[in-house]
Amino acid sequence: MTAATPHAPAQQQPVSAQTQQSWEHADQVAALAGTAAASLTGRAHELLKALLALALARFAAKGATGSLRALVEFREWFATEVDRIGAALPDPARVLPRLEDALRLGAHQAVIESGADPLGRHELTLDARMLGQLAATRDRQRAYLADANALISVARSRGDVLKAFALASRAVTYTDQGAANLVHDAVRSGMDQVALAGSWQQIAIGERNCCLRCASFQGAIAEPPDYVFQPVLPGRWLTAADRLGATIPFHPHCRDRGRLVRADQSRVSSLMEPGSLTNVLRREARRSIVLGLALPSESQSARQRAASDLLARRGGAGLSEGVEQRARRRIASGQFRTRAVITTR
Ligand SMILES: [Zn+2]
Repeated sequence: MTAATPHAPAQQQPVSAQTQQSWEHADQVAALAGTAAASLTGRAHELLKALLALALARFAAKGATGSLRALVEFREWFATEVDRIGAALPDPARVLPRLEDALRLGAHQAVIESGADPLGRHELTLDARMLGQLAATRDRQRAYLADANALISVARSRGDVLKAFALASRAVTYTDQGAANLVHDAVRSGMDQVALAGSWQQIAIGERNCCLRCASFQGAIAEPPDYVFQPVLPGRWLTAADRLGATIPFHPHCRDRGRLVRADQSRVSSLMEPGSLTNVLRREARRSIVLGLALPSESQSARQRAASDLLARRGGAGLSEGVEQRARRRIASGQFRTRAVITTR
């Protein structure tokens, strides 16, 4: 069964029902991450925007006149405004109910994929590391705001004002991203808990035009209990830590995640046979890399290097002659096309 999808570029093949379902799941995760981030940053973004405009106008009018009194007044005003932003940032503990939703979402997806619910009546649990990250987010928020105030108390130039503003703004974006990452982590944890209860494997799957890092893990199989994926491509673009193995997902835009496969040890070898999901994913990843399909975040030179690396391997990239020739032409022309970013809500 195939289904059309709003995400697929027009020229792309219709996708399978499973891929469609996987994308829908990714959309739900992204929406949840957005809600979680919004519940943590509250009005802080709005306040920040207003602060920058006002701060620059005030500084131009008063601070730059050279009057010490005006400068002191400006600094006091700025510090009060930064405190207001701090007060508008709710306690990170407020995100807890969203993390519980995320856990359930991950477990639900795992049950759909495996067709069974080995957890039964067992409760899903938020692991202690996530709770620790929440507390760390709150501490970091406060530290950035304190740094902004410390900097403004000695500010003498427009540049100082901008630096202090950048720190205040980091407190908000840090909280934003922290919440979104925690949601992704909680989804994975829910999925892992179901997978673990059934002793099932997971296969790394992501977008065709994902980044080089995510592409390197496509089609990798991870085992219980820790579900650490080893990269399947010898990417020189990976960090030393990634080469030792990593847990996914990495990036919302790459929509990489572990898909559950019910395979016991004796069947793992069948996952590796030609035509199996694992092999198809690995070939797709190599194809994407040699043809330079990646998100705009990957520079042209990074893509060139990666494509050349794969083609230079003994036996080439393991793709058809036609594809490899096309790849060589693209490398020679020095220009890879970039597909549009698939935005997540
Ligand atoms: Zn990625």
